[in-house]
Amino acid sequence: MAIATTSPVTGEVLRRYEELTPEELEDKLARAAAAAASYRLTGVEERAAWLQHAAERLEKEIESVSRMITTEMGKTFRAAEEEVAKCIHGLRFYAAEGPAFLRDMDADADAGRVGAKQTFVSHQPIGVVLAVMPWNLPLWQAMRFAAPALMAGNVGLLKHASNVPQCALYLEELFRDAGFPQDVFQTLLISSGRVEQVLRDPRVAAATLTGSEPAGRSVATIAGNEIKKVVLELGGSDPFIVMPSTDLERATDVAVKARCLNNGQSCINAKRFYVHQDIADPFIEMFVAKMGALVVGDPMDEATDVGPLATESGRQDVAGYVEDAVGKGATVLLGGERPDGPGWFYPPTVLTGVTPQMRMYHEEVFGPVAQVWAVPSLEDALREANGHPYGLGSNLWTEDEAERELFVRDVQSGMAFVNGNTTSYPEIPFGGVKRSGFGRELSDLGMREFMNAKTVWIGQDA
Ligand code: NAP
Repeated sequence: MAIATTSPVTGEVLRRYEELTPEELEDKLARAAAAAASYRLTGVEERAAWLQHAAERLEKEIESVSRMITTEMGKTFRAAEEEVAKCIHGLRFYAAEGPAFLRDMDADADAGRVGAKQTFVSHQPIGVVLAVMPWNLPLWQAMRFAAPALMAGNVGLLKHASNVPQCALYLEELFRDAGFPQDVFQTLLISSGRVEQVLRDPRVAAATLTGSEPAGRSVATIAGNEIKKVVLELGGSDPFIVMPSTDLERATDVAVKARCLNNGQSCINAKRFYVHQDIADPFIEMFVAKMGALVVGDPMDEATDVGPLATESGRQDVAGYVEDAVGKGATVLLGGERPDGPGWFYPPTVLTGVTPQMRMYHEEVFGPVAQVWAVPSLEDALREANGHPYGLGSNLWTEDEAERELFVRDVQSGMAFVNGNTTSYPEIPFGGVKRSGFGRELSDLGMREFMNAKTVWIGQDA
């Protein structure tokens, strides 16, 4: 994929970027390794201050940065502003909490049991970490790697998606101008085919990838071969289960948001809706009405709820899933037709009657398409939810405590949200199980993924 900014609203290529030459890439790798050697020795308070400076600058530039995000990938300007605000919060969170996360921890409070005067775990940086990132939250996805990694004393190399080069370059500039030492965070303008070379380079210690399953498989294979740590945040097809005790007005409001957030292109969008049969008819009526009321249009327009999909191939994929399902007997309650005209718009769509013969039943639809089923019980909903290969987020709507407990215990997902939609917060861990990947981002857990938990044992005095 060529590295370029292309407007999802018009399809026009706005700016092309040259890939790094082999010599330029080698230079960046050498610089990263040199930076890692000294950056690891900087103090945590210094690093926290640089993160604060980055937050301050981003706060001043929120409007222009949000505009850049909307221009490159088509999310609404309002959503872009929310994304930038989350980045500011993430930077401040790690600046405030990072020093505590990095304190030595007792390995065993009773060190005498292991014959020592003292034992503790010292969390130390591992060096240069490669981050391969997607376009869908072009600032936040990269920031949730960068803020904890830099706070931890690691050095970052960002290979961002080829359609968001302006966001990628902005991040390098942001950290440099915030005062971080030279080359502590660099952007690599390279195609995905060159990720292997970077990951196999002995100067690179580990990798994190957020993206599709094929990309994750490829990076994990290389990392495994090189015996390097890897974190994978891959696709999702989150279930959204609605039980009779819930307030349907509230649940349908959130269901629409959960499916259409980010123009329907988020790994944690709710994509499969399992509704108890006793309330299925009113749920579907309200859900379809609210999905149908969303305004699709220019993402810079304040009235717009859903902008275009980010790429032409992304829209083809979404349309292909719907055509496959309809061809095999699914019922379209709303949408389902690609509009004429420029840009990569796709309308909010609701389908029922989706069966295992249809591709969307097993895969991820990265656009505003909801699948709804009526189910006889929570147990049936959980069986269906857990039958899916992905296990990222999950949602239950109920006022019943026993149902909540059953869901929390049984749902096979990295995150379980009750009476709210799945979202990411710097304060709590984020990640999936099964084919949604492994490892955690955010919170103290995310920071420690790329640290050496060094066990220290100090013997009794002579
Ligand atoms: P993608 O095609 O996998 O691209 C993601 C990144 O991986 C891009 O930087 C891409 O570079 C690179 N890449 C692609 N193929 C690669 C390969 N074989 N080896 C190394 N790098 C490779 O995914 P996408 O379509 O941009 O993003 C959508 C997917 O990301 C969805 O499945 C979504 O669910 C997932 N996602 C997951 C999370 C999470 O936290 N679990 C969050 C957001 C998105 P190029 O752009 O140059 O191809």
